[in-house]
Amino acid sequence: MADQWTCPFCNHHQVVTENFQSSFSKFHIGKSKHGDTGLAHTATRCVNPDCNEVALSVRFVKAISGNNGWGIQRGIEEWELRPSNSSKLQPDYIPLALREDYFEACAIRNTSPKASATLARRCLQGMIRDFCGIAKGRLIDEIKELNQRLDGGTAPRGVEPETVEAIDAVRGIGNIGAHMEKDINLVIDVDPGEAQALIELIEMLFDEWYVARHKREQRLAAVKAIAAEKKAAIATGRAQIAENAPTVDDEAPVIEVGTRKLT
Ligand SMILES: [Zn+2]
Repeated sequence: MADQWTCPFCNHHQVVTENFQSSFSKFHIGKSKHGDTGLAHTATRCVNPDCNEVALSVRFVKAISGNNGWGIQRGIEEWELRPSNSSKLQPDYIPLALREDYFEACAIRNTSPKASATLARRCLQGMIRDFCGIAKGRLIDEIKELNQRLDGGTAPRGVEPETVEAIDAVRGIGNIGAHMEKDINLVIDVDPGEAQALIELIEMLFDEWYVARHKREQRLAAVKAIAAEKKAAIATGRAQIAENAPTVDDEAPVIEVGTRKLT
């Protein structure tokens, strides 16, 4: 095979020769609703020495019997294994707008890394606004404000200085996508790897900020529930003790039982 190929990791255009391999194996599991089926996979190594990554894809295919044995008739379903553009399921206590930006940034990471980086950047900004309560016009000003709050000890719990440094470091990537139209002479490519760096940062922040806070709240609620239960149990116990105890009433007539006085 001598084909044109663009590496999804570094965007390097190249002709694929010996750095490509494909294989097919027929499933011997009987005839399915799709007919005879099998699995085909391809592996391509990037010839760019700075990248040298391996892209992997797998296809579930309809198999056909020919003169040379089984072959591929057509693909049924296909998955890109490397680089993976699959998003991770995020809990619904993370605001919907943030989750949507994240899912979309993942979905278009390989086909449109520039747009993906722009969405990822918007998601980052949304998180700083929602989680940290900082809303200014530009992301850079919001990061500055967050740094000041970190120094002053007023940043929300879970916000670490290293995280804010990481946000600042990748801020430039998303800026390229967001401000492309302002300077049309500036042509800077965002490759899928850079878009992926932003996506991974978002995943980390979802986890460190939202998930950690939610778990803390749940633990706290559990402790409070236990405390309330104990308090109620103690109150019930006291009431029972009070009910069973002989009542003391000064004005009640003295009841004589034998020679013992009950008062
Ligand atoms: Zn590459």
